[in-house]
Amino acid sequence: KTRDPYQTEFQEAAFEVLDTLVPVLEKHPEYVAENLIGRLVEPERAIQFRVPWQDDAGNWQVNRGFRVQFNSAIGPYKGGLRLHPSVNLSVVKFLGFEQILKNSLTGLPIGGGKGGSDFDPKGKSDGEVMRFCQSFMTELQKYIGPDLDVPAGDIGVGAREIGYLYGQYKRLNGSQNGVLTGKGLTYGGSQARTQATGFGVLYYTEALLKAQGDSLQGKKIKISGAGNVATYAIEKATELGATVITVSDSNGYIYDPKGIDFKVVQQIKEVERGRIKTYADRVESAEYHEGSVWAFDTPYDIALPCATQNEIDAASAQLIKRDGAKYVIEGANMPSQTEAIDFYHANGILFGPAKAANAGGVAVSALEMSQNSERLAWSFAEVDDKLKAIMVNIFAASQKAAETYSLGKNYQAGANIAGFERVADAMHFQGLV
Ligand code: NDP
Repeated sequence: KTRDPYQTEFQEAAFEVLDTLVPVLEKHPEYVAENLIGRLVEPERAIQFRVPWQDDAGNWQVNRGFRVQFNSAIGPYKGGLRLHPSVNLSVVKFLGFEQILKNSLTGLPIGGGKGGSDFDPKGKSDGEVMRFCQSFMTELQKYIGPDLDVPAGDIGVGAREIGYLYGQYKRLNGSQNGVLTGKGLTYGGSQARTQATGFGVLYYTEALLKAQGDSLQGKKIKISGAGNVATYAIEKATELGATVITVSDSNGYIYDPKGIDFKVVQQIKEVERGRIKTYADRVESAEYHEGSVWAFDTPYDIALPCATQNEIDAASAQLIKRDGAKYVIEGANMPSQTEAIDFYHANGILFGPAKAANAGGVAVSALEMSQNSERLAWSFAEVDDKLKAIMVNIFAASQKAAETYSLGKNYQAGANIAGFERVADAMHFQGLV
């Protein structure tokens, strides 16, 4: 039963989690008595606001801004801001809900939140993006703070946008309090934050494979997406001895049997803000195809979806099996539809869910908060070592929870349970709030 039947993405994310929590609730009747689940699925606060800005032609534009402060049981709200035309309250709630358990899994003291706008940065000038970000922050700054809510980047929000948002926050508040993470290295950012989610996905994958007596050496990997997560997943996968054979955007994909060069992707996406199609103009062994990367018929071992939610439906899951892949590890948030996840479990494909596998970004964001509080900056190696330890722990905690509840290799249920147990305990001890 749901109060918001039209919030399809939020429902999908919530039911996926709730289905796996039944054994925990059976063990803890006090959680049922305290309506802990009823409280968990209701955000503490959901803010929606108008974002007026002026385009280069002088037209007055209006977008919708959101910040959902979902759960602060274990720490200040933490989660990214997404700029994409598909953003609505349902999408922000699904991401915020996922963030609660993801942040808990990191073992760090951060609660769950998420925000964004239906503004489309694609094709906008730097000036337009700056004016939008300044207007967005003019409203958002009323609701955030270093001990209250610390936003970060997500789809459409990278170093450029965080810079404009932070500049405006500072101007309005007159303080340097590290209220955003993903900042530039010259003004409070952390080493390795740019790489953190992609690198973290591979550290998690390495741990999952190791538990099966397997390794990344010589593996062929299909990656979807060509953004922040995909780019650094390619870098780390290659470094760990695997070959990444694809990279994609919402128009099509590149296939390169010799292995995708992350530096070329970086140049196209971060420097030129271009389309992935142009990769094939620069690398002789690469070919470009329109359509979905999952449909491309070639054998490979590991699928790393790093683009967006619901990109893998049941039919795509069957194609993953057709191509012989044995592992699906999620870099994006909720890229696998529920039917696809059911298919993986029924067909022996080992599944690493987003909230565990892509937690590296938020983990390093929390480390950025620690550095800002200390007024110190740690080295790349120091942050990277901590990131690796966190990702290995996340897999271990998921595996342990799966074992405790006799769930075999269901690391999805294991991650949900391990993340939930900490939040539930904190909510229980804080009483009716
Ligand atoms: P970016 O904006 O940097 O890149 C997103 C990429 O995915 C782009 O290449 C984009 O292509 C592609 N994409 C978007 N929609 C689709 C689609 N419908 N079909 C195919 N490709 C698509 O975002 P990030 O890399 O930061 O984020 C990717 C995913 O990872 C998201 O789900 C995000 O929530 C998740 N994530 C990100 C974290 C981070 O630290 N950045 C942390 C944890 C999770 P196009 O240019 O055509 O739109």
